[in-house]
This record gives sequence, structure tokens and C-alpha cells, in this order.
Amino acid sequence: MTADDLVIAGFVPFSAIDWPGKLAAVLFLQGCPWNCGYCQNPDLIESAVPGVVPWTQVRETLEQRVGLLDGVVFSGGEPTQQPAILDAVAEVTGLGFGAVLHTNGAYPDRLSELLPNLAWVGLDIKAPLSRYQAVTGSRRGGERAWASLDLLVASDVDYEVRVSVDPTVLKLSDIEEIVAELERRGARMPVLQEVRSLGARAEYVARLGDTRLADVVPEDAFPGMERRVEHAPTAAAPSIREALVTRDGGSSGD
Ligand code: SF4
Repeated sequence: MTADDLVIAGFVPFSAIDWPGKLAAVLFLQGCPWNCGYCQNPDLIESAVPGVVPWTQVRETLEQRVGLLDGVVFSGGEPTQQPAILDAVAEVTGLGFGAVLHTNGAYPDRLSELLPNLAWVGLDIKAPLSRYQAVTGSRRGGERAWASLDLLVASDVDYEVRVSVDPTVLKLSDIEEIVAELERRGARMPVLQEVRSLGARAEYVARLGDTRLADVVPEDAFPGMERRVEHAPTAAAPSIREALVTRDGGSSGD
């Protein structure tokens, strides 16, 4: 297994939004073990789909950008699903880039192996433990994600916890439970993210309707906590996988 085995669904050579305050290239890796209703990249869930960008092409591009970019972001899908990420991270750090991970925390063992080589991690926490399956479809997903949170908190790596609030599943009491649990585990306060309809499956967009983050978490709840709200058009959204192949800037991550 080498970095050449990485199955890459999309490569964005330049982004200013995926590593706070830094410039980075972004890789979208194929495959995710979960199936969130609001997934913006449903085309990236199936693991058996072949990649569209070979690692050799990524390596060549990165070699030309040494000194011009701060780092390389591994996003998905769920990037830690692929064992080849270990070699890919080693290669990019060997070139002098910071390695950044956007993860749902589904593979705490692999996260543990990666952490010593990572410069920054964005971890998505999706629900209280008891509600994880309702959001992700995964029976053991919650245990894994919260175990990853503990690894991150215990590490020296800079990180952000994002709570993506699925308003079709979660209530304010669930968010209160998440925030209390993060506090109990010594984690930083999270960013509350509004789920976006861009790229999501039509049935989810219909279920979501006009419900927004503020309908679940009123504006005056959790004063001082950052909110990430971005309204996007719902009609005629392109396939994210198609868009990624041609895109030359910006990305959404998990
Ligand atoms: S939202 Fe993230 S964790 Fe959920 S299915 Fe999509 S890629 Fe996987």
C-alpha cells in the first residue's frame, strides 16, 4: 500500500477556506462508511468507485507549489477510510507542507496513527452518542466519533470541532447534550454548522424544506459560540463529484 493507491475523487489545487488562515490544496477521497441524509457529497460515499485523479498528478502539482502553499487538506468522503492516506500524509509533510484532515472520526485507530503528522484537524461531531445512528445510519458510528474526539483532545494538534446540526433529526436538547459532553471531555467549544442543501439528495432537500439551524438552535442559545451558516441554492445543484473535477477553488469538506 502506497500513496499511489489513494482513490481520489477530486483535487482542488488552491483553497483559502479549508485550513483557517492558510492556503492549501484539497484532496477529496472516495468512500465513506456512513450515509448521512444531508450529505453534500453522496457520490463520494461508495468505496468501490474508481478515482478520477491519480496520485502521481497530485504529487507533480504539489512539487511545483512548494513554498506557495501552506498545506494539503485531506477531505472526503471520509479520508481515513483509505489506508493509503498514511503514506500520502507522509509524502506531503516530506515536501514541507502541513497535512490537514477533515474527518467524521469513523476510524479512531487510523486517526491515532495520523495525528503525529497532522498540523490541523476539523472533526465533525454529528449527534449525542445515543442519536448517532439516526443521523449517520451507522450503529457504532457514535462510539468511534467520540473516541476520535478524545484522541484529538489528548493530542497536541490544533483542531476545530464542528457540530453539523441536522434539523430533520436533532432537537435543541440534543445540541445541549453534545455541548455538555464536549465540555466534560475537555474539548474546545464547537462551531455550529447549518447543513446545506447544495449537493444533497432530492429527498433530503424536500424533507429539510425551509428548516434552518436557527429553528433548532435559537440565535440566543449558546451565546458566543460560532455559527457557520451559508444558504445555498437548492435547484439544479450539480453533482459534487462532477463539480470537483473541474473546480479550481473553494471546497466544502465533510
Ligand atoms: S456527510 Fe460526511 S460522514 Fe456523512 S455520509 Fe457524507 S461524507 Fe460521510
